[in-house]
Amino acid sequence: MCEAPFAVTILFIPVSAPLDKLATDWAEDCDKIVLRLCPICKRDSIVGHGRRRKQAHDEHHDWIGIHRGRCADCGTTFTFLPVFSLPYTHFSLLARSQALQQRFAEHCSWEKALPKLKDPDRLPDPSTVRRWSTGVEFPQPALSFLSQTVARVTHWLARGRQVLDQAGPLSWITPALEVLSPLRL
Ligand SMILES: [Zn+2]
Repeated sequence: MCEAPFAVTILFIPVSAPLDKLATDWAEDCDKIVLRLCPICKRDSIVGHGRRRKQAHDEHHDWIGIHRGRCADCGTTFTFLPVFSLPYTHFSLLARSQALQQRFAEHCSWEKALPKLKDPDRLPDPSTVRRWSTGVEFPQPALSFLSQTVARVTHWLARGRQVLDQAGPLSWITPALEVLSPLRL
C-alpha cells in the first residue's frame, strides 16, 4: 500500500454523526471543520485555503462541500475529506457498499447491483461496480457490507480520536488507510 500521496495532501475528517444518522449526516462535518495540526510540522499551523465541491454520490448526497488548508510554516496544501468519500472517487463508501451487498449478499447481476442515489442519473456502470469488488473478501456473504464498513469506520474513529487526543500527527492516517484497503479505489 502506498501511503505517501495520502499522507502528504489528504487529511481525513473524523465523522461525528451518530451511527443511526451516519447515512444522512456523514458529510456535514467536512463542510465545517478545518484541521489545524500539520502532520509535517507537528504544530497547529494549518489555515483555511478555500473550499471546493466533490462528487460523493449516494442515497442522500450528490456533491459535498470540502475545505482545503495550507500550512503557514511548510506551505503544504491539504484537502480535507470525510472518510466515506475517498480521493478521486465519485461515489461514497456507503453507495459502494450498497452495490456490493446487492451483488454478493442478494445475488443480483452486475447490471442490477446498483446503489440508491440522490441523483439517479449518476448510476455507475456495471464495470465500475465490478472494479469496486476487487480485493474484497467474502467470509460472511450474508453480513451486510454496510455493516462491515460501518464497523470498520467505527473502529477507526475510536482509534483516530484516541490518537488525536494524544496530538499524534501522521499516525492517524494509517488507521484511515486500513479502512480504505478492503474497498479499493
Ligand atoms: Zn507544516
